Amino acid sequence: MSSTGVRSQESGVRGQGPGTRGRGASAAAITEADPQVLSTEYSVLRIDGAKSAPSATSHSALRVPHSALLAARGLFKSYRKGRVEVPVLKGVDFSVRPGEFVAIVGQSGSGKSTLLHLLGTLDAPDTGEIHFEGNRIDNLPARGRDVLRNKYFGMIFQFYHLLPELTMLENVLAPIMIRFGVWNYFWHRREHVHRAKELLDMVGLSHRLAHKPRELSGGEMQRTAIARALITQPKLLLADEPTGNLDQQTGSEILAILKKLHREQGLTILMVTHDQAIARQADRTVRLVEGKVAA
Ligand code: ADP
Ligand code: MG
Repeated sequence: MSSTGVRSQESGVRGQGPGTRGRGASAAAITEADPQVLSTEYSVLRIDGAKSAPSATSHSALRVPHSALLAARGLFKSYRKGRVEVPVLKGVDFSVRPGEFVAIVGQSGSGKSTLLHLLGTLDAPDTGEIHFEGNRIDNLPARGRDVLRNKYFGMIFQFYHLLPELTMLENVLAPIMIRFGVWNYFWHRREHVHRAKELLDMVGLSHRLAHKPRELSGGEMQRTAIARALITQPKLLLADEPTGNLDQQTGSEILAILKKLHREQGLTILMVTHDQAIARQADRTVRLVEGKVAA
């Protein structure tokens, strides 16, 4: 599977959520020969630790907390409907510390998915900045965003976004094939498959390895999506209404898995939900009101 496959999959994801306006021409116009782009991309490929290139803008100038894993400052995002500009985010300031479990709440249409998509680099803000581990990420070229997401972010969505032609085991392995390439993947296939089976076992699905998504329930698909998000050992799990399409009992089971990952493995989780009862389970709740984080 190629990284092109990922982009098209993500395009599908975008198509079901907020739009893609704003990513646009600058990323598309970038060529591999552009030295500035290559150096930015290179710094992302080495984003971890001391070896990564220093951010172009200092922390203090942006008031980005040093302790933050992910931080957003002054995010604005509008959508255009015909000739009308519809402002959705109007100056969002927000950060997540390592090891936190944060819920973003707000009414339907308040911009929760828009914000999560910006933070996950699936879309770009009109203005403002997003930093991950002190590195600016909102202005990366497409390849840099792909690498960043594959290496550091796990994502789960309300409608799972599993690939219908693949079995559950293959769905979980897909991010690994994308990261290492097919040849390298097959060379280390045994250990990757072992890890995928461990994760499917952890989410209670070891008996469903060869099934395809259409043969499974919503809860089973979301469990698979969680295993897929974890196979790359992400530093941050982004979840957009992960229980939104499930009955109450199944939703509680999915949330119990997320809480266990947070409690036992220290996974940092950022979850969007419109459900107060679900949000209360997180360490901290952030409310979006009229395009801003409410005080
Ligand atoms: P939430 O997730 O809180 O329900 P969204 O972020 O999905 O809200 O949407 C916020 C607002 O932005 C809504 O009014 C929605 O109609 C609008 N919106 C989202 N995506 C698009 C788009 N692609 N084009 C135009 N408007 C959009
Ligand atoms: Mg939403």
